[in-house]
Amino acid sequence: MIKKITDIFKEKDRTFSFEFFPPKTPKGIENLYRAAEELNRLGPDFVSVTYGAGGSTRGATMDICVEIQKRFDITVMHHLTCVGHSRQELEAVISQLKDNNIKNILALRGDPPKDVENQEPAPDGLEYCYQLNDLIREHSKDFFSIGVAGFPEGHIHCPDKDTDTKYLKIKIEHGGEFVITQLFFDNNIYSEYVERLGKQGVNIRVLPGILPITSYEGLLKFCDICGATVSQEVHDIFKPLNGNEELTRKAGIEFAVKQCRDLLERGAPGLHFFTLNKVEPTKEIWNRLGL
Ligand SMILES: Cc1cc2nc3c(=O)[nH]c(=O)nc-3n(C[C@H](O)[C@H](O)[C@H](O)COP(=O)(O)OP(=O)(O)OC[C@H]3O[C@@H](n4cnc5c(N)ncnc54)[C@H](O)[C@@H]3O)c2cc1C
Repeated sequence: MIKKITDIFKEKDRTFSFEFFPPKTPKGIENLYRAAEELNRLGPDFVSVTYGAGGSTRGATMDICVEIQKRFDITVMHHLTCVGHSRQELEAVISQLKDNNIKNILALRGDPPKDVENQEPAPDGLEYCYQLNDLIREHSKDFFSIGVAGFPEGHIHCPDKDTDTKYLKIKIEHGGEFVITQLFFDNNIYSEYVERLGKQGVNIRVLPGILPITSYEGLLKFCDICGATVSQEVHDIFKPLNGNEELTRKAGIEFAVKQCRDLLERGAPGLHFFTLNKVEPTKEIWNRLGL
């Protein structure tokens, strides 16, 4: 049954969801559908599909969302970034989402493609996520649930956490209805974030984004780009295992299970797993948590 995520919230105190990305090859896409099929058997509340930097996977994200929703009858959320798109292009995507009965959008600014510095917004384009929220609402008042990205440590290009909180609040005032966070490894960072938002009157659901660690070096590279802190605990556990895939995978599962249990005990309203299109380790973590 296809629902708006905010309607799922009315029925459930906690939601559990999986994130996929659009692969570049037909084989990768088939693997993704296999992974989605297997993970769907676990009974997630919704799944989401990312949008390539600068709109590079525009058609693929839409096709995958439509196919997953059709094959598995599960609620899907389409990520949509505004950077590099004209207003008209964004309106076209929003119309298509509605035509395809995709009821959930994770609205994002996105980042310019890696080789472009100081990219100007497209003529007639949008500069920030909150403007995309406006566009979605203008286009279709109540059809969509809109989620937004949250950065518990502050966005990498934001001067400080208070300014980041102020901008997050603007995204919510402009139609954002829930938050999915960037990855983090120290749960105090999450608790402090929720508290900071609460003090500013932002009391919507903040779903923690969970990355099961499968590669120490890969993690360092990713965190360097997105600005998330790799905690000392993570260095201590995973550095000695660097290069040993199997031991890293096992330790990644242990770490994620412990992190997720603690988050749920702290009252997190669910978990959003960055699956990297793999069944394992997300399935094992899910089973170990007894979800
Ligand atoms: C859960 C999650 C999923 C993601 N999925 C994708 C994806 O599918 N595709 C993709 O390309 N990227 C994705 N991203 C990455 C995201 O697009 C980048 O981190 C991007 O740099 C910020 O996007 P945003 O929507 O938070 O932007 P915004 O909220 O618009 O913020 C962008 C920058 O502008 C500043 N800012 C915000 N509002 C204002 C304002 N009112 N005035 C002045 N400055 C402001 C912020 O501090 C920040 O530095 C995802 C991130 C997360 C956490």
